[in-house]
Amino acid sequence: MYDVPMFIDGAEHRAVDGAWFDSEDPYTGKPWAQVAQGGAADVDLAVATANAALEADAWGGLTATARGALLVRLADVIAEHADELAALEVNDNGKLLAEMAGQVAYVPQWFRYYGGLADKIEGRVLPIDKPGYFAYTRREPVGVTAIITPWNSPLLLLAWKLAPALAAGCTVVVKPSEFTSASTVALARLLHEAGLPKGVFNVVTGFGKDVGAPLVEHPDVAKVSFTGSDATGRSIGASAGQGIKHVALELGGKSPNIVFADADLISAANGVVSGIFAATGQTCIAGSRLLVQREIHDELVSRVVELAGTARMGDPRSPDTQVGPITTRPQYQKVLSYLDVAREDGAQVALGGGPADPADVGDGWFVRPTIFTGVRNDMRIAQEEVFGPVLAVIPFEDEADAVRIANDSAYGLGAGVWTSDMGRALRMADAIKAGTVWVNTYRAVSFMAPFGGYKSSGVGRENGAEAIEEYLETKTVWINS
Ligand code: NAD
Repeated sequence: MYDVPMFIDGAEHRAVDGAWFDSEDPYTGKPWAQVAQGGAADVDLAVATANAALEADAWGGLTATARGALLVRLADVIAEHADELAALEVNDNGKLLAEMAGQVAYVPQWFRYYGGLADKIEGRVLPIDKPGYFAYTRREPVGVTAIITPWNSPLLLLAWKLAPALAAGCTVVVKPSEFTSASTVALARLLHEAGLPKGVFNVVTGFGKDVGAPLVEHPDVAKVSFTGSDATGRSIGASAGQGIKHVALELGGKSPNIVFADADLISAANGVVSGIFAATGQTCIAGSRLLVQREIHDELVSRVVELAGTARMGDPRSPDTQVGPITTRPQYQKVLSYLDVAREDGAQVALGGGPADPADVGDGWFVRPTIFTGVRNDMRIAQEEVFGPVLAVIPFEDEADAVRIANDSAYGLGAGVWTSDMGRALRMADAIKAGTVWVNTYRAVSFMAPFGGYKSSGVGRENGAEAIEEYLETKTVWINS
């Protein structure tokens, strides 16, 4: 078994009470690693070391230029080790090796981008309205930052937070998902070996209630940056509010992919299929609602069913596989239960609708790509996040109807618009209440493009120049001259 200890103060760390738990491989359903099971005592240790590192010469004493240069050097180290980090992620989350390798190979860009921004964090001289006064602002790191991540894209989603936090001069304590801790610990080890000072990037592994909750409550944590489900996000937001902490929440979605009759239907069908079935539907931006203009409903549905119906399921490490298993056992049960909910509410199965045959795919947690037609937007399958390979198809009449249905959701993370009319594309982009709108494409993300949710999809922005603001305080200095 592979050991996943914690990483605190620049060194591996076992749980104070010595406990471990197993991490299972979703393809085989069998344990492949044991993970240190942390608790409040481990959190205390990690926060204390992060707090000390904030002021230490080796980190707090660095110039912004030196900090930025260090991040750029770390980017190269991550790039050199991308394949081994990606392999760890696949063992833990069962996503396609090709996809994880692509994601991890992209991670260095966050370190380069925010490394470049580190010495462009500037205050202002204020044209103050009171004679005899001089006033200016300073931008300072917010302090010890708690980063709590989910299992679906462990290192990519970590990089979205870690790189801007470090560029701003913060120190961090990361709590990875209990299902996918291995790559985060490996990254911490790697970055310290490459010169990141001790105490700057600490990892406490374990469960949400044992590690996540005490981390958020810790009085020396100044900022909490969380990606995960909206239920956990609400509880973290409430706890951070009690402690008067900065908080950013990147939560779930029920994103619409909206296809108009004037769209290129071949591109649209491809975009719809990869929008929901890539990563086995386990992405926050999954296009889980297909809104299709009524006159092309049957044609588009048959194209989408045909494309998704031929997707090969199997070993995520095989280059031939197109759809992998569900990452966790509880998530597998949850996805299957939604198939029953949709049927009971009157939706019709146009494809899939159940688990895959173990004779075809082995003992892993596989759900067949599933498409429901005859869905109304008020059904649970159209309102609740499934986080699996399940598409709900909803017809619409015209542009106004499409906007109404798209926005009739508690969520607002992403939306796709497929049309050949650019005027319509711009009107839709204005009208949709979501943090990202893609036109004639879906799922594009970049380190330079701000990302985040409207409504229950979250608060705060990641990526782009905006994200560094999330890790800074503004101090105003008045001088009576
Ligand atoms: P989750 O909320 O169950 O867990 C996320 C993290 O929070 C884990 O590390 C978990 O241990 C921790 N946690 C659980 N309870 C906690 C508590 N009380 N206090 C502190 N930490 C706690 O989510 P998940 O199942 O791992 O991830 C799937 C969810 O993440 C989906 O809903 C998905 O939409 C969302 N997601 C959002 C984005 C985004 O950027 N908006 C990206 C990826 C995933």
